[in-house]
Amino acid sequence: MKLRTRFAPSPTGLLHVGNAFSALICQQWAEKHHAELFLRIEDIDHTRCKSEFQQQLIDDLTWLGIHWQGDIIKQSNRHEAYRDALKKLHDLGVIYPCFCTRKHIQQEIERMSSAPHTDLSHTAPLYADLSHANDHSDPYLGICRNIDKSRSEIKMKHEPFAWRLHITKAMELINAPIGWNDQHGHFHAASPALFGDTIIGRKDIEFSYHLAVVIDDAKQKITHIIRGKDLFSSTPIHCLLQHLLGLPTPIYIHHALLVGTQGERLAKRHQSTPLKNLKDAGCDSKLLRQFLLTRDPPVWPFADTDIIHIIEQLGRKA
Ligand code: GLU
Repeated sequence: MKLRTRFAPSPTGLLHVGNAFSALICQQWAEKHHAELFLRIEDIDHTRCKSEFQQQLIDDLTWLGIHWQGDIIKQSNRHEAYRDALKKLHDLGVIYPCFCTRKHIQQEIERMSSAPHTDLSHTAPLYADLSHANDHSDPYLGICRNIDKSRSEIKMKHEPFAWRLHITKAMELINAPIGWNDQHGHFHAASPALFGDTIIGRKDIEFSYHLAVVIDDAKQKITHIIRGKDLFSSTPIHCLLQHLLGLPTPIYIHHALLVGTQGERLAKRHQSTPLKNLKDAGCDSKLLRQFLLTRDPPVWPFADTDIIHIIEQLGRKA
């Protein structure tokens, strides 16, 4: 069987050196295993994705020396497939409409914490994975889980709602341990219950990242998913969705993230060095590639602002 992987960036800003590191790790793995590498643009979040970043992302990856197979898939063109999957989950009875606002959830937590003898241990922990914060960062208390059908049907006509996955029902339906294998054949048991009833269809976007990514990986017959450790916490939910939807679970490889000298994450919000700035200032992409792929542990030791200094150092250290 042909091995396949993919790189799946979201055009929410300029690609930075942390994204470049991830793309290079993916490509390095594909080359080593004679696998196909696909590029997928994950742009379902129309509130954060911008078309100008999309073309820039393609240009930047090309400059970096990333080669992908075939056509680029764009999630914004695949709503029909996500809608079908949502319907399937609905027919299975494992999702329910949730009308809560963040404020409402917060108030409920406060109310329960101040009530005597309240056990909050069953609530989901706060997630560190802020990149997909809207999808599952809140410790949901199940406020809408048991609204009766006729009442929720009336509410759905007048109020915005999200679809939440009823984790307990879903796990009961599957009735088997779930998990994934990593590159060493090590099995990671998934406990999606830890994360509470995750949002699968959002109020503002119709589908969540979790649903779209699982459908696309199956559609593209991805055998190996190589992505950063920041997404490790999403993998149990992905395994659960794959089981519910009758899709295969690929092998997951979560690589270490490129970090700053203090171990801090190089996220767009921390103004990590954009590839475009390096390219525009005349950086040799071969030197950048060599630099990134030979860091052990993967550390980006430069301040973002002094591009000329970075370019000089890349030349020196290569
Ligand atoms: N689009 C996601 C991101 O940019 C990556 C998703 C994945 O690799 O599964 O964080």
